[in-house]
Formats: sequence, structure tokens, C-alpha cells
Amino acid sequence: MTIDQRRWTVKNGLQSTVHGRKDHMSFLKKLFGGGTAIPDGRYFTFSVKCNRCGEIIEGRLDLEHDLSLDYEGDREVLHVRKGLMGNNRCFQQIEVELKFDSSRQLVEQHITGGEFSSR
Ligand SMILES: [Zn+2]
Repeated sequence: MTIDQRRWTVKNGLQSTVHGRKDHMSFLKKLFGGGTAIPDGRYFTFSVKCNRCGEIIEGRLDLEHDLSLDYEGDREVLHVRKGLMGNNRCFQQIEVELKFDSSRQLVEQHITGGEFSSR
């Protein structure tokens, strides 16, 4: 290998690295929609009914930030635990636990201190 050939190889290698990184960036941009737009269905809303006073309490989850990723075997699950309290002075603690699959579909729900209400 002559010196010229070696130089060319190094230069070419650098170029392809830079190019690869650029592709990766645009992939991320596509994935998150440029980082500014809030996609439809980002929020998951639900209502619960307090076991003690019967108040209906609205809960809202930010599917982008409130969920934490977990694994059940090979399956990806996103779960969230949220404490809710009504405006009445009954101080009942209501805790909900929700599980979503990787496409943000609700797969499991648990509640203590109240019950899920569809209004
Ligand atoms: Zn209550």
C-alpha cells in the first residue's frame, strides 16, 4: 500500500462516519417529529370514583413522560403509578397503577381506594 492509498482510505473512513451520524440524526428527528409537535393521543385520561365520598376524580397521564419502561420476560411494558386525591375533604388516598404495551394500549389496570369510572 502506498502512502497515498492509505491517506485516501482514512479520509474515506471519516467521511462515512460523519455521513452515518447525519442519517442517525434525521432518523431521530423523524421518530420524535422534530421535537416540537405533540402527537395526538399523547395524553391518557381516566376517571376514578372515591370509595369513601363517591367523588369522581379526573386523572391524566402524559404518555411521553409519566411511563416507565419495564420488561416482563421478552415483552416490553410501560407502567405508571399515580396517586390521586379529590377536592372534597375526605383525604382518601386513591392509587392507580396502569400498564400499557409498547404501542401505548392499556393492558392492565389496578386501583386502591376507589374504582375506575366511565362516567
Ligand atoms: Zn373521597
